[in-house]
Amino acid sequence: MSWPASKEEFARLRETIAWVYQHSPYYRRALDAAGVKPADLRSYDEFRRRVPRTAKVDLVNNQRQHPPFGEFLAVPRERFGSLHTSPGPIFIPRLPEEGGGAPVLKEAIKAMGVRPGEVAHVTLSYHIMPGGMRLHRAFEEAGCLVINGGTGASRLQVEVARAWGATVYAGTPSFLANLGDTAREMGFDPRRDLSYRVGFSTAEALTPKLRRDVQQTFGVELFDHCGEAQIGPLAGECRVHDGMHLHAGDLFCEFLDPQTGEPVEPGGTGEIVATQLGPRALPLLRYAPGDAFGLLAGECPCGDPSLRIVFVGQVGVIKKIKGVLIHPAQVHKVTSAFAGLGRFQIIVDHPEGQRYDRAVLRVGTTAEVADSEGLKRDLAAQLKATVLVQMDVELVPQSEIPEAAGAPRFAEAMIDRRVDH
Ligand SMILES: [Zn+2]
Repeated sequence: MSWPASKEEFARLRETIAWVYQHSPYYRRALDAAGVKPADLRSYDEFRRRVPRTAKVDLVNNQRQHPPFGEFLAVPRERFGSLHTSPGPIFIPRLPEEGGGAPVLKEAIKAMGVRPGEVAHVTLSYHIMPGGMRLHRAFEEAGCLVINGGTGASRLQVEVARAWGATVYAGTPSFLANLGDTAREMGFDPRRDLSYRVGFSTAEALTPKLRRDVQQTFGVELFDHCGEAQIGPLAGECRVHDGMHLHAGDLFCEFLDPQTGEPVEPGGTGEIVATQLGPRALPLLRYAPGDAFGLLAGECPCGDPSLRIVFVGQVGVIKKIKGVLIHPAQVHKVTSAFAGLGRFQIIVDHPEGQRYDRAVLRVGTTAEVADSEGLKRDLAAQLKATVLVQMDVELVPQSEIPEAAGAPRFAEAMIDRRVDH
């Protein structure tokens, strides 16, 4: 979809809300409590201001109180086609006609240059969770011959991928790295004896190092993808590999400032709030999983006009520093590119009599630093270039930085000492 949304997209959203209001007891009550009559919603602004959000905890709690599906359910059980479960546990029934993310994934698969007739090897879990089945269906619909690899059993997976000449890998990048090691242990050369040409990377962060390593091992081109357990796949890279195109045509996605709730323009960072379009067994309106994305400005050279997004991290630890929203994961990306650096803390304050906030990055060192002044200078320059905030850098022994500041939760990575934040 586009962002800001088009008139047609808002019209589909209105139709969905009317359907959900009629069929889902949970939403009928929530909308009544908010004084919202779906027919009265005239504009996106009105929708955003008046329709309440749904948090993951709302869904979990309601399913616990009214097991197994909660009051979200909008159709009788006889109409379910399949049932997935996600951590929580959350039970997600699906109508047979619901695409289950397949239309989004098919766009992503096309953007990778996958051709009908190729052999796709899917290594996400097929057990209980939706990931493996979703990808399997999508590759099948894209005309591929699909191998249901699933997880584990790496020697068997190497044998099967080799026997069938699999050209497309789909799964986590670390499992692909594992298949490379296994192939070598079995006496194979991953480049010569296996035929992977492109890789659909998902369900795990694709770090630059992992991407480089795996691409070198197999001579494969990896494409990063993102999604969320309940709302499904969202976006994927094209061959330009600069951000992920938002392919989620079956969702109405909003990107909102985590502090003000106002829409964020391309170039900014926004929290995703998504509404599933069309009839669903368990519909979700304004579902907010708490994930923040950077929105890239400008058009992609590949010609696909859809919005490009970059995953930033969970919104809970985001802070606005000097007018820019910063997530510790963005800073971690910069510090982890330097050898000998570990956990860090960002201290933000507003010195009296000064016009602007001050941000100090205290980085823990894990090894002796030869040229500390040079390192501090380089680090500050990299931060200014990528995170867009000027920070003073201090190097301290890693033991001075609390463990709770570390990745991936970064719970104590930001210390805000401003009076009125
Ligand atoms: Zn593109």
